[in-house]
Amino acid sequence: MCKDCLRQLPSVNEIKDLVLSKESGLSSSLLSNAVKEELDKFRGHIFDGIFCIPKKNTPLGKEFLDKVVELVLNNLKIANRHNLRPVVNATGIVLHTNLGRAPMSNIVAQNIASVAQNYSTLEYNLISGDRGSRYAHVEELICKITGAEAALVVNNNAAAVLLILSALAVHPKNEIIVSRGELVEIGGSFRIPDIMSLGGAVLKEVGTTNKTKLNDYEGAISKKTAAILKVHTSNFKVVGFSHEEGIANLKLLSKKHKIPLVYDFGSGMLDEYEPKLIDENYVLQAIKDGVDLICFSGDKLLGGPQCGIIAGTKEFVERIKKHQLTRVLRVDKLCLSALEPLLRLYLDKERAKDEIPVLKMLSFSILDLENRAKDLYEILDKSKPTHLKIKIVKLDGQVGGGSAPTLNLLSFGIEVYSDKLKINEIEKTLREYDTPIISRIKNDRVLLDVRTIFDYQFSIISNAISIL
Ligand SMILES: *Cc1c(COP(=O)(O)O)cnc(C)c1O
Repeated sequence: MCKDCLRQLPSVNEIKDLVLSKESGLSSSLLSNAVKEELDKFRGHIFDGIFCIPKKNTPLGKEFLDKVVELVLNNLKIANRHNLRPVVNATGIVLHTNLGRAPMSNIVAQNIASVAQNYSTLEYNLISGDRGSRYAHVEELICKITGAEAALVVNNNAAAVLLILSALAVHPKNEIIVSRGELVEIGGSFRIPDIMSLGGAVLKEVGTTNKTKLNDYEGAISKKTAAILKVHTSNFKVVGFSHEEGIANLKLLSKKHKIPLVYDFGSGMLDEYEPKLIDENYVLQAIKDGVDLICFSGDKLLGGPQCGIIAGTKEFVERIKKHQLTRVLRVDKLCLSALEPLLRLYLDKERAKDEIPVLKMLSFSILDLENRAKDLYEILDKSKPTHLKIKIVKLDGQVGGGSAPTLNLLSFGIEVYSDKLKINEIEKTLREYDTPIISRIKNDRVLLDVRTIFDYQFSIISNAISIL
């Protein structure tokens, strides 16, 4: 060990002053800790004899001080970074559950911020000056845009299904009829048979995996039947020799036997758009076809916050509202502050397509996407190091979030590779960038799909590429 070295080690205050001269406004105590930590590391290196500190007032000594300052600033930056923070989604998967499903529009984000920072009308009725209902802010809107008589919002769609089953399946009428082709697992261990037993319902399976007909359902109806449940097989499709009954036909049975018809719709595409965004069923159509209760996610194709929307007839929605679980599964003010402005956007169909990011991403034409890929290419071409190769390519994307599993969303993007770096290193550097960029690797190329990248993020990618 070099004794002289220890004496050369700068003091905490010396480094603090240098850091503050570069970046003012840092918390003094957090800064002291960061400096101590960094100096301790060097002290360790000196004791281990692997480092010798250059003399003060020499060019090397100054270089050393600059280095310590830079390390401290960098450590502070990393320590202050939030764990939950925005990323660039370059995967092309519009509803990426791991990346937070639906991004929200600016109009929605502004309302969240303003409700969050103030007291609000959450459960206050301004007309009577009395207690109000938190659900009143959105119930009428949901009814208006879906055509339902009544509605309720809970924590997520899994909660909505559990609540509906719990409220409808009450002994001795506790059997719920479901097609064997619809006993699905959604992911994150949400399985229809398990959620049934949790809700106190007895599962009455009918039909087969690939074919279930109306008389299969009818044969299972008894005095114990509480409901017929249809489940949207969101994340897989049975193709070929297959048959499932639609809501309109099931309604004939439900009406004849006076049994409620329930539809777990999951992805919740509200209505058809021109041109068709996605080949799906629609909430509006299911309600028109006479479903008694429908539930769907707020953060899938609806494009809003995490929640489960239950809509249907007054009779059944009222029954659900009275159930004890409704209080357990209630949504908070931040959810409602996002949902209300989102629903208002749906009052104008064209505006919805322009303002709701999920719908906008799905409605890009292939030409839009090709042009955006060209724009991104030009920006990257200016900033990229020479060893990096980029090319505009045609890509297959997915809707994601367990929606439209067989739909291949043709898209455009940029493929990236290098003569110098391994493909995994490129992917990792992008992922570990200040604003992480999440990409895909295919055939030894990093792929950046422009469908899910916002225009303003092109410059983030360009900055990240420039350091490769
Ligand atoms: C996604 C989905 C669910 C679960 O919804 P969450 O909002 O994720 O809780 C339930 N049922 C179906 C059919 C789904 O697609």
